[in-house]
Amino acid sequence: MTALARKLARRIARSGPLTVEDYMTACLLDPEHGYYTTRDPFGAAGDFTTAPEISQMFGELIGLWCLAARTTQAVSGPLTLAELGPGRGTLMADALRAVGKAGNGPPSVAVHLVEASPALREAQRASLAGRDATWHATAETLPTGEPLFVVANEFLDALPIRQFVATSRGWRERFVATERGGLAFSLAATTAAGELVARLPEAPAGRIAEVGRARRTFVSGLARRIVRDGGAALLIDFTDPRLPLADTLQAVRAHDRADRLGSPGETDLASAVDFADLAREARLAGAGVHGPVAQGAFLRALGVDRRARRLARSASSGQADAISAAHRRLVSPAGMGDSFRVMALTPSPFPAPPGFEGAAS
Ligand code: SAH
Repeated sequence: MTALARKLARRIARSGPLTVEDYMTACLLDPEHGYYTTRDPFGAAGDFTTAPEISQMFGELIGLWCLAARTTQAVSGPLTLAELGPGRGTLMADALRAVGKAGNGPPSVAVHLVEASPALREAQRASLAGRDATWHATAETLPTGEPLFVVANEFLDALPIRQFVATSRGWRERFVATERGGLAFSLAATTAAGELVARLPEAPAGRIAEVGRARRTFVSGLARRIVRDGGAALLIDFTDPRLPLADTLQAVRAHDRADRLGSPGETDLASAVDFADLAREARLAGAGVHGPVAQGAFLRALGVDRRARRLARSASSGQADAISAAHRRLVSPAGMGDSFRVMALTPSPFPAPPGFEGAAS
């Protein structure tokens, strides 16, 4: 048993089984033993590799996207750029470099980072060495009263979800309980969950459904502020077409799937993002919703093919092979090109930002 599993077992003995939401929050962000609170999980030697860690092209194109989205809203003056869950800070460093080289006199940029993990804040400070940046524990303290351009790559998947199981007597909530000295899933009727299951479609007994209440609250807050102050948000994450009727909770360790209850605090825990559900929240808050579009198509529309060719021209042949492999991994359906989707939020009457022209919204 991990130290966190023992702590959770004591908590369960004291106050009963945990919702999947409480379990996920503890696994990722427990102050003593949480996965993100205590380590830097990224890269080849770590547990998983995210798009900005695959290639500098990803962050560069996103930086330029923010500039272009700003132009479509005729915003000028300093650019306020915020990133949610910036990991190692690689995306932001690449974005700032690209923005700094942009033609027509690059704007001065104020950088805001929302990061819960002290370990990752240190990594971000190192990546952004020499840059002024402001760190926030939650998105609530981001500056208001000015347009804000917000990027979130693989952030929503880390916000906790609840799970429900269809039974012949209606939806029951899935909990994490103790069993024979370890943790195990259990089912119980929930009184508090009525509103959460109300939106779920009919499902045969045994099917599992996921509801991202924390994600809804988060997106709706973000949408409200963009409607009020201007700016745009770019939300990038993996999805699953079966949602909300799917069990997508996944633990990942050393680039492989792991047992979800087996080593809490020592494996990453995430679940696929239900973009349709979040688009609904954003629209209810009055925002314009663009996409979701596939990551591959989005990056291609922003010019990733040209950027890869350009980088390869000034590279050694070994580096050129690495650039081409990274490009493939980002855009091809066999890599992240299709399973990852991109959705943008803007104030409502604005035209589609770059990469979303012609996308259903
Ligand atoms: N965007 C990065 C990292 C993604 S991993 C990349 O693409 O490489 C998820 C990130 O979100 C980590 O930095 C993690 O510490 C942070 N995080 C997770 N839950 C959070 C929360 N509730 N509030 C703030 N940050 C959170």
